[in-house]
Amino acid sequence: MDGYQPTPIRQPATMAYICADCGTENNLKPREPIRCQDCGHRIMYKKRTKRMVQFEAR
Ligand SMILES: [Zn+2]
Repeated sequence: MDGYQPTPIRQPATMAYICADCGTENNLKPREPIRCQDCGHRIMYKKRTKRMVQFEAR
């Protein structure tokens, strides 16, 4: 039975963040700036760790 290879499942390179202001879930890529796509808030919670991650604007 040649010719069949299971395709590896690629995890999307995004991190799930929850906006601390409006609660909207944002899936951000590592290189993207941390900012709520809904309200523009810059304080987000990581969905997995629930640790607060704050990014101050400079
Ligand atoms: Zn928000």
